[in-house]
Amino acid sequence: MHAVLSIGSNMDDRYALLNTVIEEFKDEIVAQSSIYSTPPWGIEDQDEFLNAVLVVEVEGTPLELLRRGQKLEEAAERVRVRKWGPRTLDVDIVQIIDNGEEILSEDPELTLPHPWAWQRAFVLIPWLEAEPDAVLHGTTIAEHVDNLDPTDIEGVTKI
Ligand code: AMP
Repeated sequence: MHAVLSIGSNMDDRYALLNTVIEEFKDEIVAQSSIYSTPPWGIEDQDEFLNAVLVVEVEGTPLELLRRGQKLEEAAERVRVRKWGPRTLDVDIVQIIDNGEEILSEDPELTLPHPWAWQRAFVLIPWLEAEPDAVLHGTTIAEHVDNLDPTDIEGVTKI
């Protein structure tokens, strides 16, 4: 199963928290973006996020992959004080392709592809770097990036 993960952190030791995900998937990562600094989305009076995209080839089911990400979030003692607010670690599954077929799911527990990915600069810009030929909703990632608001693009800077 080919999966695109978007990982983010804006609390505590953000690099160390992103590294827990890289460590967990180290033998399964087939492509990886740089780490990007991105302005907080939604609520603006919080620290900058660090974001990255990992492309992995994993065994098991989509829900098993979701659980692996959730375990890392729990280990990071993820604190959710308010929606869109600070979190130590966020692991989202953006897209899964199994045997050449994209998995589509409207299950609220695991919605695929991730519902907002196509309009979030902090997902699309690292994804374009990691997987330049990827396609989401029938459109290349490069085209999705072109459709973003230029100020959103400017906010996402490679570290
Ligand atoms: P959030 O706090 O915004 O990361 O949302 C976490 C919730 O989103 C969890 O309950 C997940 O079950 C659910 N969820 C739905 N679709 C996805 C997805 N594609 N990747 C990660 N979490 C998802």
